[in-house]
Order: sequence, then structure tokens, then C-alpha cells
Amino acid sequence: MILIHRGIRGYMQRRAAIRMQAATVAPTGLAGQERPLDPDAAISVRGLRMAYGVMEAVRGIDLDVHRGEIVAFLGPNGAGKTTTVEILEGYRHRTGGEALVLGEDPGHAPLPWRDRIGVVLQESTVEPDLTALEVLELYAGYHAHPRPVMETLELVGLAERAGARGSQLSGGQRRRLEVAIGLIGDPELLFLDEPTTGFDPSARRQSWEVIAELQRRGTTIFLTTHYMDEAEALADRIVVIAGGQIIAEGTPQSLAGRDTRPSTLSFRLTGSGRQAALPEALASRAVANGDGWLHLSTRDPLADTAILAAWAEQNEVPLRDLEVRRPSLEEIYLELTEGDRA
Ligand code: ATP
Repeated sequence: MILIHRGIRGYMQRRAAIRMQAATVAPTGLAGQERPLDPDAAISVRGLRMAYGVMEAVRGIDLDVHRGEIVAFLGPNGAGKTTTVEILEGYRHRTGGEALVLGEDPGHAPLPWRDRIGVVLQESTVEPDLTALEVLELYAGYHAHPRPVMETLELVGLAERAGARGSQLSGGQRRRLEVAIGLIGDPELLFLDEPTTGFDPSARRQSWEVIAELQRRGTTIFLTTHYMDEAEALADRIVVIAGGQIIAEGTPQSLAGRDTRPSTLSFRLTGSGRQAALPEALASRAVANGDGWLHLSTRDPLADTAILAAWAEQNEVPLRDLEVRRPSLEEIYLELTEGDRA
């Protein structure tokens, strides 16, 4: 895979600025805020609603996605993600609220606007009888200013399979070709719907590199995924939707106060160490979990680790598998969406 690392320092500065902005801007998705649409944002939405008959799938969403940002849109099955994304892509008409995507109302956007957005859908769009090159040439023809076909195949790591027919590509390779189709128009804004479902771990990592490279080139990315590690690796900001409403947003590190939650200090005692009494300062917080494992909640991991290490040395107790862990993004997400999961 060829990744072009141009202007790396500029990119790092831009990325740091985006992360800073993501960490400091007032949340846009939380209810009760009256702010005008932002015409300079890649996506700006206020009070977005969508009802299928009597069923309200989206119930008043406010959201801004800044240019150059990667936003991960997370939520349980049936939360309203696809409905929201289809409205933003201009494929579905909303029943309420306001929306601007690249400065245009996606419900009434002119044709040239479509050229500025790229879409990678969940389901396959690859022609089985055409080669990867032919598929991409076909789609390039639909765009006013397409990206060079071979360069796009290289970007997604498919250059060596350019002559293979759709039916001869593996599942992961077909998914890469779908990503290439989303990129061929050289979009300013890319919607990626579960881009790595079905990928092996190394293909997922390669796709993350492609997505990071797109951001380096200035593309804004709106990503839906059920993989928390993917959201954590890629997103500047995470937005969680449940029951058609945004229930939390923040950086992967700060979502729902993740950065201020207590950590867990874990270690394993073996042999005679299992009978040793822990220091008083730690004993009341320690929970035994079988096989000699002990876990304790700590707001000051450094101080508690120092107490533990001193105790272990003094009593000649070997500490096995010592680790300090903050709540994972998955734990935070599961806590947020408890009760909303279909
Ligand atoms: P998933 O993670 O399973 O893809 P999602 O978050 O994308 O879910 P949506 O597909 O937006 O959820 O669906 C939101 C709600 O709207 C669900 O209850 C779904 O059953 C309902 N829904 C979606 N499309 C339609 C439709 N065309 N007609 C009626 N109801 C629909």
C-alpha cells in the first residue's frame, strides 16, 4: 500500500488543533441548545427529525462536524444512525429540523454538491464481471473531477489486483474496492458506513491507515462503526446516539467523563503471598477475583502503586501481572447505551 506522507508536520499541527477543538467546543448534540446552523461546518444539523409513520427514528438531533474532522457516530442497532446518515447524504427526506452539509441543504442540494461527497455503504456495490480497474473507471466517469484511477487503487491497497474481476476478489478486497468507489470523486466529505466489517485484523489496520491518510489530505470523515477500537483509533470525536437522540459526545478519551473516572489497579498474588495482609490503605478497596487476582479502584494510581510496591518489597511478596487500567471506551459505551440496546 502506498501512503503518501506529504507535509507531515503541517498535518500533525492541524490534527492537534482538531483534537483541541474537539476537546474544548461545547457539545453540539445535547438537547436544549439554541444555536444557529454553522454554514462553514462540513455538517451542521439542528433539531433533525425523521418519522416512519408513527415511529420516530430520529428525535431532534443537533450536531456540527468541523472540516477536517473524523467523527465516529456510534449507537446500538436501531438507534437511528443509518436514517441520520441517509438524510445527510441526501438519500432520505427528513420530517423536521434543519441541516446543512458542505453549506447546502442535503434535501434540495444541486447536482454539483453530490460530487463533493463520497459514500461507502454497508452493502456491496461491486460488479462481479468487471475488473477492479474497470469498476473504478466506470465510477470515475460519473464525476466532474475524479481522482486518478490507479492512484485510488494504490491508496486502498488494491493496485496489484487491478485486473481481477469483482467475483475473484476476496470479501476484504471487495470492501476496499467499495471504499475506492467512495473516494474516486475526490470528495471533501466521506461517509463511511461500517467500513471494516468482515476484515481480518491486518486488513483493518491497513484500512485505518487509509482513513488516516485521507484525513491528512484534508477529507472530513463521518464514520459509523460498531468497533470501539476503530472509533478510538480514528475519531477526533465520538457521538453516541440511542433511541433517536444524541446521548453523549466527546473525544475518545473524555467521552462521558472517561478521563476523570477511577482507574483499576490489578495484580496477582501467588503462593504464600495470597495469605499476606494487604496494607491498610488498600485493603478496603481490594476485590479478590479468584486465582489470586486482586482489583482495586483508584483515583491516584501512582500513589497506590507506590504503597503496593513498598508493601510487596517489605514482605517479600511477588506481585504478578501488575497493571493499571482506565475504563475502556467499550465499557463507557455499554454503560451509556444500557437499556437502549435492541
Ligand atoms: P443498525 O446499527 O442496526 O444499522 P441504525 O442505528 O442504523 O441501526 P436505523 O436503520 O436508522 O438504525 O433505524 C432506526 C429505526 O427506524 C429502527 O427502529 C428501524 O426499524 C426503523 N426504520 C428504519 N428504516 C425504516 C423504514 N424504511 N421504514 C420503517 N422503519 C424504519
